[in-house]
Amino acid sequence: MAHYDFLIVGAGLYGAVFAREAARKGKTSLVIDKRPHIAGNVYTEQNEGIHVHVYGAHIFHTNDKRVWDYVNTFATFNRFTNSPVANYHGELYSLPFNMYTFNKMWGVVTPEEAAAKIAEQRAAAGITEPKNLEEQAISLVGTDIYEKLIKGYTQKQWGRACTELPAFIIKRLPVRLTFDNNYFNALYQGIPVGGYTQMVANMLDDPSITVRLSTDYLKGREALNDLADQVVYTGPIDAYFDYRLGYLAYRSVRFETEILDKPNFQGNAAVNYTDAETPWTRIIEHKWFEFGKDAEGNDLPKTVISREYSSEWTPGCEPYYPVNDDRNGELLKAYQALAAQEKVIFGGRLGEYKYYDMDQVIAHALQTAENALKQS
Ligand code: UDP
Repeated sequence: MAHYDFLIVGAGLYGAVFAREAARKGKTSLVIDKRPHIAGNVYTEQNEGIHVHVYGAHIFHTNDKRVWDYVNTFATFNRFTNSPVANYHGELYSLPFNMYTFNKMWGVVTPEEAAAKIAEQRAAAGITEPKNLEEQAISLVGTDIYEKLIKGYTQKQWGRACTELPAFIIKRLPVRLTFDNNYFNALYQGIPVGGYTQMVANMLDDPSITVRLSTDYLKGREALNDLADQVVYTGPIDAYFDYRLGYLAYRSVRFETEILDKPNFQGNAAVNYTDAETPWTRIIEHKWFEFGKDAEGNDLPKTVISREYSSEWTPGCEPYYPVNDDRNGELLKAYQALAAQEKVIFGGRLGEYKYYDMDQVIAHALQTAENALKQS
């Protein structure tokens, strides 16, 4: 029976980067995943010639040149720039919050007029130090935008009132007094040509890396642990400890995916439904991540769309988003204390219970691998 330097639990971005870095240093890895495929939640699958983002839209963006150079060794990135549209009861607004949004909302034309409108609404709300997402949102963009573009969406997305959510969640979105619909403040942005699955496959493509799919670590960990010197675990931290201190909260997402016999459904990759009444949070039209073309550059005759429905995670369904509120912060600390007693490395969005973007996952995996490989 082969013995490995590392047993890596989870073939998502964190696990693939870690395995790759280990291989670079001549170390062997067994990468396992309970799903029948690699790439974790960045997994993409071809359907009607379109790379479908099976576990939700992933747009790669980063300010970290090292991470950008790194991913570009495994894929070529296209020039996709994320510019979602918000649909509030049929009224359309540009995202993120910028001069196009302010013009449509208030008819303001200059940045001074927009800034004055926001300042007036912030003052009327009487917020000095924002304590939660609602107060943070109003102080950033005023009450009108909060009511139409943030409140309903956030309550659907998180299943909690905006007053019960941490302010940092809304700080992910830029606010700009310029005409700029780019959703991210990032120097580098794009989608890997050929899909994320191919990019992760390229990371794992090394003779020192063995991949075993449909293998659930938590259902056979004793035997699996024996196969390697060091375990790297990227599943949910509370699941690792059999939830012995209680369940950490996660948001789960259900996707209703449809193939439509028409070339264009909504004219954009992402449309967010920001009212409270529409049951889904957003609709993704996957072909627009690649400008509606197939690999040969031909226009695609059909389209694939996914409606996203957000729900509270319950045992047995897929966790997507950690809920970083006070209660879960305390519980996480208790789990981290248990983790500190283990010889195991915990990494990634689920292993660290952090609302990481892809570039942050890669940066942490690179850093942790570097430290671990120095010691081994
Ligand atoms: N958000 C919102 N309205 C929108 C889009 C986002 O209020 O149209 C808020 C919402 O609270 C969301 C947060 O901003 O959870 C972060 O949005 P992001 O697009 O970064 O979320 P993700 O793509 O990770 O689901």
